Formats: sequence, C-alpha cells, structure tokens
Amino acid sequence: MKEHDIPCQMVDLRRQYDKIRGEVNEAIQDVIDSAEFINGTRVKTFCANLARYNAIPRVVPCANGTDALQIALMTLGLQPGDEVILPVFTYAATAEVIALLRLTPVFAECEAGTFNLDVSRVEEKITSRSRAIVPVHLFGQCADMEPLLALARRHHLFVVEDAAQAIGAEYRFTDGRVAKAGCMGDIGTTSFFPSKNLGAYGDGGALFFRDDALAERATAITNHGQRVKYHHDLVGCNSRLDTLQAAILDVKLKYLDDYTRARQAAAAAYDERLASLQGATLPRRAAYGTHVFHQYTLRVHDGQRDAWQARLKRDGIPSMIYYPLPLHLQHAYRQEGLGNGAFPVAERLCEEVLSLPIHTELTTGQIDKIAASLHAAAQTR
Ligand SMILES: *Cc1c(COP(=O)(O)O)cnc(C)c1O
Repeated sequence: MKEHDIPCQMVDLRRQYDKIRGEVNEAIQDVIDSAEFINGTRVKTFCANLARYNAIPRVVPCANGTDALQIALMTLGLQPGDEVILPVFTYAATAEVIALLRLTPVFAECEAGTFNLDVSRVEEKITSRSRAIVPVHLFGQCADMEPLLALARRHHLFVVEDAAQAIGAEYRFTDGRVAKAGCMGDIGTTSFFPSKNLGAYGDGGALFFRDDALAERATAITNHGQRVKYHHDLVGCNSRLDTLQAAILDVKLKYLDDYTRARQAAAAAYDERLASLQGATLPRRAAYGTHVFHQYTLRVHDGQRDAWQARLKRDGIPSMIYYPLPLHLQHAYRQEGLGNGAFPVAERLCEEVLSLPIHTELTTGQIDKIAASLHAAAQTR
C-alpha cells in the first residue's frame, strides 16, 4: 500500500501487529501448546520483565486497569467513608472504583498546561477523613509528583498513581533521581487495553509496588483473598491476566521504547507543523519529565473546537474529545454543591480539548495532511 493510501485512524494496531506478527503468533502458539491458560509461566516472566523495565521490585498482574485501581484501594485497607482525592478531569474509571468501594471521591482542580492534577489545589481538599490521593498521569505525562508526594507525606496520605496512559513516562526529581510513571507512590496501576501504549490483544492490567508486603496482599486480593488455597484471609476478587495476553505483552514490551520514540517523533512532527497555528494551544511538555504521548491533545479556543473537528472529519481525519465532561458534572458522580463553575479550568478544558490521531504507525504524510486540515480550519472562521 502506498503511504497516501493508508487510511488515517486514531490508532493503527493492525499495522503495528504486521511488524511483529511472527513473534506474536509463535508466543500465542506456545501458550496454546502448553495449555497453561491461567497463571502460566509467561505471566510470571512478563511481570518480572516489566518490573525490570520499570526499575521497581514487584509487578502484580490483574484483569484490567480498572480492577488494578480497585485492588490498589482494597490493598490499602481503606474503609467506607474514607475520602480519596482525585483530579476532576480524567477517565471515569478512577472515580468509579472509589465509589464502588463506598469511599468518597473528592475532586480537585486540574492545570490547563499539562491537563494533570493541579498540585497547588490539593491541600485545600484535605480533611480529617482524607486517606489517599490518586493522581492520574493523563495523556502520557506524569503529574507533578515531587510536591504531591511531599504533601501526602505531611498529611499521612497514601498515593496511588493511575498510570494507565503513561507507562514508560519518566519523572525527574530535583535531586536528579528518575522514576517511571506508577513507581513513585505507594502503589501504581496501569492498563493493557489494546489502544494503551503497551496494549494487549484484549484486556489486561497490573499494579506496581516498591513494598513487598503490599504486593503480597494485592496478590492475595486478586485471587479471592487466598494466600493458601481455600483459606481466605481477605475479601478479594477474581482478577487475572490471561497467559495469552501476558505472552503477547512480553513480546511487545521489548518494543515499548521504540513505540514511545515513534509517538514522540509524531508529536514533534505535529509541533513543528502546528507551531504557527492560530487559535489553538499545543500540548505542553513539563520540564520535570518525559511525555510518552498516549494522546496529542490541542486546546482549541474561542468556541471553535467542534467546527475544527467537523472540518477534520470532512477531510477524512478522525479525532476524539477526551473528555467532554468533567467528573463533577457526570450524572453518576454529582455531588451536593459542586455544579457548573466549581472547577473552571477542568470545565474549560472539556470545551477546548481535541485529541489528534497518534500511534506508532503514523506517517509524515498523514501528519502533513492533518496539519493542513487544521490550518484550513483555523482560517475559516
Ligand atoms: C484506560 C484507563 C483506565 C482503565 O483501564 P481498563 O483497562 O480499560 O479498565 C483507568 N484510568 C485511566 C486514566 C485510563 O485511561
């Protein structure tokens, strides 16, 4: 297929697979031949390799990224009524597990530049019932963890990092130490949903631990609270990573840094072509770390976002709005006294954000076409 014939998609998992087809097919065949479908050796191998990649002692696998968040909060022994602080601009899974466990979600404002939790607006949300903070490393870039960890330490709060969108992103502390997303707080979680930066061919998730005792407890929780078979010490759940998915992920993990570089190159190409774009702000890279560009998200000003999206669509270019509503305005998560205007930055982001196609297979030809369409959109108003 000639480059200009490749249809432009938000993600292109098929062309990514084509390049590793032999290795992936062999890994799948090995699992089937071994018939170790549940808790097979490939699950352990993959978790050990991911732990090494993340430079963290323990990785505990589970069924998906939402379960990972739920298991993290269960592992910390939080009790109904305990308050958990989270960004108001994020995917609903983060709030959902808090609500499911009968904990109280407490929303905090976000910061327009990075779309992440505004750490300077967290302390005002801390009460005597606060037990944990769940920063989300949104769109592929870490929240500002150093001041957040200091704040959590001062107030004796747990930190659970939602790194579903940021696997491999780095955060640099002022003393020069570098850590990967999800490896700085008490527990980190991630998702292997197919379109995530390290995607399976189905569902999957994992938790990251620096503390062995917490990892042991989480492992038991993922297996009905058993440490010894048929002896249930804890109320747990059933949340496993399939051996087939682990085998596929173990192949793809070898390419994760290449995939990240491809995403960063696409983002740099967008930056270059969109530098003179009128009426929109390009995604900001925080000085404290690297960006793995799970999304490349513009902020389109002056109420033009939907018109720009329509223009892209007419030119055959997909785009997405992550996310159209902040959590406090979602029906399921409405709270007394938090209406329109409660979180002006997050509310404005929801009106301005426009995520462009970004993935490991994006070509410069496609980026040229997308940039030309955006420049045309900016001129017709
Ligand atoms: C994808 C995602 C999740 C949930 O992951 P699943 O594997 O789909 O359950 C949680 N949080 C964030 C920020 C996500 O992007």
